[in-house]
Amino acid sequence: MLLKSPSHDEKLPTQATTHSSKKQQYSLPTLIGYWLGPVLIVTCHIGSLLAFSTGLSLGAWAWIVFLYWIRMLAITGIYHRLLTHKSYSSPAPVKWIGSIIASSAGQMGPNWWKAHHEEHHRFTDQPQDPHSSVRGIQWSHYQWLLSRNFLPTKLPADVEQDIVLKTIDRLHFVPTLALGFLSYAIGGAEYLAAFFISTTLLFHGVALVNSACHKFGTTPFKTDDYSKNNGIVAVLTLGEGWHNCHHAFPWSARQGITLDNGAVKYLPDFTFGFIQVLQSVGLASKVKLPAEPDVLVASAE
Ligand SMILES: [Zn+2]
Ligand SMILES: [Zn+2]
Repeated sequence: MLLKSPSHDEKLPTQATTHSSKKQQYSLPTLIGYWLGPVLIVTCHIGSLLAFSTGLSLGAWAWIVFLYWIRMLAITGIYHRLLTHKSYSSPAPVKWIGSIIASSAGQMGPNWWKAHHEEHHRFTDQPQDPHSSVRGIQWSHYQWLLSRNFLPTKLPADVEQDIVLKTIDRLHFVPTLALGFLSYAIGGAEYLAAFFISTTLLFHGVALVNSACHKFGTTPFKTDDYSKNNGIVAVLTLGEGWHNCHHAFPWSARQGITLDNGAVKYLPDFTFGFIQVLQSVGLASKVKLPAEPDVLVASAE
């Protein structure tokens, strides 16, 4: 189903609707749970060294690739395009199951994730952007997570009202730990090392969208920021590297769009393919795509 371009107001909640209420207050258990996120990611970096003593069999390499792929897809297809941008609609269980898989990446829960990503779009590359690329590539890649920006100013109301998503968000570390234990149960220390490596690579894969995709690449579309289309990151992130297009059409279910000699050209976008599969089995609807004349009008040239 092809919908015409939504109005600007539909792209993201306006500043007035999301910042009118007071700053988010966090309970101590929530704060402790949230800070476990960076601890887990640092642990995975150090834990990757375990592979030097265990070695990695072909099966362990396959485990690395599989865990990377499925969790990347959950982050891009569920956290990003479904929950944050509402680029398509899905039944609640798709959101819940997808969020459990995404949270096993050690990159926090759906509510935390959406809060930061909304702020990134609302204030892209401005001082209020939590990982503004203007502050340097290291800042936008990881340093912002180790700063006061780590705590969202306001958690989005829609995901906060969903008790299942809220529970996944506050207990985001449980799926990550469970996957670590599962890996060990399957193949001992070698598969635990594979889990650490996969989670570490996944962290940097997602972070490249915030860092590299605001620095290196092409800008086929007019935007008020430094977003770029980057083919290498697009491969690593299942289509999210077409980030200039994403900032031009943040509500679009398809990010792999560019302009070539004044014509619209479609680029590989695995996550969009996943959304189409969901749609074909009745698990996705109201898939938002920009009409070609709107794509042409957005040209940077
Ligand atoms: Zn961006
Ligand atoms: Zn986005």
